[in-house]
Amino acid sequence: MESVDILIIGQGPAGLSSAIYTARAGMNTLILGCAPKVAGDYEIDNYFGFTETITGKELIERGKAQAAKFGADIRCDRVLGIHQDDAGAFVAKTEDKKIEAASIILATGVSRIRPGISNLADYEGKGVSYCVSCDGFFMRGKPVMVVGEGNFAANQALELLQYTPNVKVCSQGKELSISEEFLYRLEESKIPVLTGKIAKLAGDNGLEKVHLESGEQIDAQGLFVAMGQASSSDFAYSLGLMRNGQFIETDRDQRTNVPGVFAAGDCVGRFLQISVAVGEGALAGRAAISHVKERRRTLLDKEAK
Ligand code: FAD
Repeated sequence: MESVDILIIGQGPAGLSSAIYTARAGMNTLILGCAPKVAGDYEIDNYFGFTETITGKELIERGKAQAAKFGADIRCDRVLGIHQDDAGAFVAKTEDKKIEAASIILATGVSRIRPGISNLADYEGKGVSYCVSCDGFFMRGKPVMVVGEGNFAANQALELLQYTPNVKVCSQGKELSISEEFLYRLEESKIPVLTGKIAKLAGDNGLEKVHLESGEQIDAQGLFVAMGQASSSDFAYSLGLMRNGQFIETDRDQRTNVPGVFAAGDCVGRFLQISVAVGEGALAGRAAISHVKERRRTLLDKEAK
């Protein structure tokens, strides 16, 4: 498994700013993510130091070049899930591979996509879940469905197999964006992929059935929402991070409640602006550097004993 000091999830202003600090401090830094929303022909007029209007695309390209100059490794790859192992390291599963990191900086922006099911909220905590590693256990042997159209949903469905063999995926009417490899693994695991749309959920004591717009009714006692790509909220659920709604809670140094995990930028939800994301990214980078140094000292002390 590839191992890095600091894994930064997000190639927006927050993630790139963090990387400039961590890579410059000699930390082995990997940045994952793909072009952020602002990296288009959008005109940025209010970022410090640019008297001429700059496009979001150019600003991000400059940030990437600057982070790369200090040795950060930048790849377009999406993280599907993260967990912490027994030794306290973090293991991120991506669309490509598994990566181990001593510290994680979440800089994923905000993008939780809702599935548009009318009475979804009525069943939250009564069958509807956003986290397989948190709630999969309660679905042992029960019929479950994952709502989502991409690799994130496919991965969640495959993870559910450790709790129940009765798993389905529903793309909620969206065009499938599941890779060949994941489609093969779903087929091999006998997980059907439905492309219809769920109209509503039903059940008196918790979720019992999913009603499709076509009129078909499907048994499901668990419905796991995994639309689009994994968001900071999904990582917060699986890592046990404190949240305020969809935003991750941090202290003034961008530390979350889990040592070694930091968050910066829009996913923290203060003032959703580039300047703030850049500033928080710097703080998160500094805090992550301290964490990695402290962890190294602790491991060396243990070895010496
Ligand atoms: P983002 O820039 O949103 O970056 C998020 C990153 O996380 C992306 O690289 C994404 O690929 C990655 N990511 C997400 N999930 C995953 C995953 N599962 N695995 C791997 N990577 C993942 N602000 C201003 O100050 N001035 C402006 O003029 C301005 N104009 C804007 C115009 C537009 C069209 C938009 C959309 C925003 C604008 N903003 C502006 C707001 C600004 O862009 C954001 O505040 C800023 O980009 C937040 O930075 P961030 O790094 O937190 O997140």
